[in-house]
Amino acid sequence: MKTEYSGIKAVLLDIEGTTTPMDFVHKTLFKFAIDHVQGFLLANYTNEKVLEILSNLKKSYEANTVSSKEPTEWTEIDLEERCKSATAYVKWLVSNDSKDSAMKELQGLIWKEGYTSGLLKGEVYPDVPEAMGRLHEEGKILAIYSSGSVLAQKLIFSTTVYGDLTQHISNFFDTGVGNKRDPESYTVIANLLDLEPNEILFLSDIMEEVQAARYSGMVSLQVIREGHSTNKDPSAMKISGLMELFS
Ligand SMILES: [Mg+2]
Repeated sequence: MKTEYSGIKAVLLDIEGTTTPMDFVHKTLFKFAIDHVQGFLLANYTNEKVLEILSNLKKSYEANTVSSKEPTEWTEIDLEERCKSATAYVKWLVSNDSKDSAMKELQGLIWKEGYTSGLLKGEVYPDVPEAMGRLHEEGKILAIYSSGSVLAQKLIFSTTVYGDLTQHISNFFDTGVGNKRDPESYTVIANLLDLEPNEILFLSDIMEEVQAARYSGMVSLQVIREGHSTNKDPSAMKISGLMELFS
């Protein structure tokens, strides 16, 4: 890394907008789940976990019917019919920007199967593999902090077209440590890494996250990828790619 970062022992990376294009989560992943929901349910409805999700979706459907939000119709003469009703309801939830937990759980299972089968590949910007490799070589600790679950994070980095990047990453943090806009979360991460906050360099596209990390004492840079509009933090140094960390 550049000499100005000589005191840095760990680099903490955000995912969306930093290592990975925004569209990957908002378009690719969500579209994949929608496209595969019916096939997945029909192929797996004897699975105990899937049966539980189906029953939770039914409860969620009934709650929405009671609150007269008029979801799609739910019929179930048999399990196959129930899967089709659940599919229509999941699509309705997604189009209503719902955070329904049964739907989220189902999406997670569909993504996991997609990654495992190779139909789905984790996306990173082209500079990410080289930058991660170099940081690793230089003996820096590489960690991820993202609002996606730790499992989802590992799946993204282990299945890229550049190979398995998790070999370079030693720690994964999700919102279990706290909100990304709360300075306290960065203090928790520093403690978990057993480092002083000023030994950690945090990179994110989001101004509030960059500010929260800096407030905790971390060195904090804002990543502004080409074509990605985001509020700029007036106090943060900005980079457009990870290779700018090296001289
Ligand atoms: Mg981000």
